[in-house]
Amino acid sequence: MGIVYLTGAGPGDIDLLTVKALRVIRKADVIIYDRLANPDILAEAKDGCEFIYVGKEDSHHTLPQEEINEVIYQSALKYGTVVRLKGGDPLVFGRGGEEGLYLHEREIKFEFIPGITSAIAVPEYAGIPVTHRGITVSFRVVTGHESRKARSQIPWENYKTDDTIIFLMGLHNLDKITKKLIEIGKPKDHPVAVISRGTRPDEKTVIGTLEDIYEKAKDLPTPALIVVGEVVRLHEQLSWFEK
Ligand code: SAH
Repeated sequence: MGIVYLTGAGPGDIDLLTVKALRVIRKADVIIYDRLANPDILAEAKDGCEFIYVGKEDSHHTLPQEEINEVIYQSALKYGTVVRLKGGDPLVFGRGGEEGLYLHEREIKFEFIPGITSAIAVPEYAGIPVTHRGITVSFRVVTGHESRKARSQIPWENYKTDDTIIFLMGLHNLDKITKKLIEIGKPKDHPVAVISRGTRPDEKTVIGTLEDIYEKAKDLPTPALIVVGEVVRLHEQLSWFEK
C-alpha cells in the first residue's frame, strides 16, 4: 500500500511551489490534479509517472468529491507514492480534509503538504497587503460560492468590522456580495478589488467600489478573487507584478 501526499500547488506561478511539494512530485508514481494546479508542474514528474485529471475549477464541472476520493484511494492501493495536487493550499476551500478523512477510514497513510494560498498570495502580487498597520488588524477568507443559496450560512452581520474580506469562488456572485455588504451598512464607496488569474503572466486587477465593481469586473476571466477593505487603496503604490 502506498502513501498519499495531499499537496498544495500554490496559486499559479510555478516558483511558488514549496520545496517539499517539488520533492514528492519528483518521486510520484501517480499525480491526481485539477484545473487550478498549474499544469507546468507536471513536467517535474519522473518518466513513467501517471497523470489523472479530476476536473475543472468552480465545482459545476468537477468529478463528484466522492469519486475523487475513490480515485485517490484506488491509486494508493496500486502505487507507492501518490500525489494529490490541488491549487493553493489543500485545506483552504480545497476539500483536502474530506480526502484525508476518506483515507483515514480506509487505513491509508497520508500527509498534508501546505501550499501558498491564493487568498494571501494573489492580493500580494496585486500589491494589496491583507493586513497593514494602521489600516486593519485582521482578515477573513470567505466562500463566495454559497451566497447563491437561498439561505446563506455566512454571518453577514459580523462583517461590519474593518477586517479585510477575501472572497474565493465569488466572481459569479459579485453582484450579490456587494449588495449584501451595502445592505449591512458598508459605505457604497468602500474599496474593492477583483484580481483575475493572480500570479500568472496574464494577472489583471480591477479596482472599484462596492457600488461599481460589478460592472467593471464581471467579465474578467477566472480564477478570480475579491478583496474588500481599505487595504485595497495601497494597490496604487504597491502594485509591482503587473507593471
Ligand atoms: N485551495 C485554493 C482555493 C480553492 S477555491 C487556495 O488555497 O488558493 C478556488 C478559488 O480560489 C477560485 O474560485 C478563486 O477565487 C481562488 N483562486 C485560486 N487561484 C487563483 C488565482 N490564481 N487568481 C485568483 N483567484 C484564485
